[in-house]
Amino acid sequence: SSFEELGINPMILKGMYAMNFKKPSKIQERALPLLLGNPPTNMIAQSQSGTGKTAAFVITILSRLDYTQPKAPQALCLAPSRELARQIEGVVRSIGQFVDGLTIQAAVPGAVERGAKVESMVVVGTPGTVLDLMKRRQYDTSQMKVLCLDEADNMLDQQGLGEQCLRVKQMLPSIQQILLFSATFPDGVMRYAAQFSPSANEIRL
Ligand code: AMP
Repeated sequence: SSFEELGINPMILKGMYAMNFKKPSKIQERALPLLLGNPPTNMIAQSQSGTGKTAAFVITILSRLDYTQPKAPQALCLAPSRELARQIEGVVRSIGQFVDGLTIQAAVPGAVERGAKVESMVVVGTPGTVLDLMKRRQYDTSQMKVLCLDEADNMLDQQGLGEQCLRVKQMLPSIQQILLFSATFPDGVMRYAAQFSPSANEIRL
């Protein structure tokens, strides 16, 4: 199958081709038809790094945004470290490089000034920083549609991060699609995933 057949917006496709993506990777081939379907549905997916999972959720996020609302946060990706958050931010910028009006920012320690409003459509951050911004009302959650948690197994290995992600989720009144990716699914991660992303499609590679 091809990316064109999935109905991906031409400006998103252009960014993917600029990155030299020619055809979907295995996880993209399985996940994208479900991820891009309407109405939006939740997904729990097993994926190692190197499989193309980041692009899978970035394409989904870019496909769901309302581009008439450039200052409204609409999609959030949570990562277990600031380094991973910055990497994901870079992938959003690359795949989204030809998408008109796209706004992106990182929400990691030190990246958002105290009192400043988060005014980007896509936010990639670490759970503690994102939660602080929401509690201090620097982050308007009223138009948040897509939530993605990357590397859930690493998230749960760090004290308190899993709980913070659940609290972030509770602050999103109009969420439509919740995605969770993890390289491994021991029982603890599986139970967490079912709570974080209920009634999800499950993909195991
Ligand atoms: P990830 O699994 O997200 O860590 O991605 C691994 C690498 O694969 C990254 O360097 C991506 O740019 C690349 N990649 C993702 N999807 C594709 C694709 N469909 N074709 C070629 N490379 C890809």
